[in-house]
Amino acid sequence: MKNYALRLVLQMLALMIGAYLLSHAQSPSTAPADTIVLHGRVYTESAKQPWAQAVAIRGARIVAVGSDAEIEKLCAPGTKIIDAAGRLVLPGFVDSHIHFLDGSLSLARVNLEGARDAGRPNGARPAAACRSSSS
Ligand SMILES: [Zn+2]
Repeated sequence: MKNYALRLVLQMLALMIGAYLLSHAQSPSTAPADTIVLHGRVYTESAKQPWAQAVAIRGARIVAVGSDAEIEKLCAPGTKIIDAAGRLVLPGFVDSHIHFLDGSLSLARVNLEGARDAGRPNGARPAAACRSSSS
């Protein structure tokens, strides 16, 4: 679940990076960021600066993309820091649409999304855990 949440955050960042690069006319600010992402491999899709390490966000906007040292300057008390831990951060749109017929039919099937192995569907606990937690 933690990886899922981190993936969502990184996907949202990717969207915001794309928006930032489209509106690159905005000059970087020295005001503190709300959120910074450090230690990433940020692919910007910009010919001027194809790769970066870090991203700074204020409100719903990316205000800076650069090295960890450059972006850390925008950190202040209250700034949320996300450690991308070397993961790739890409600009892009994430489409989460569903096809009505297939999506509705899937509700009648066993949901194995997120299952770690075939013998233990998502959320199922091993028998030993069930026995020890029963009252
Ligand atoms: Zn489709």
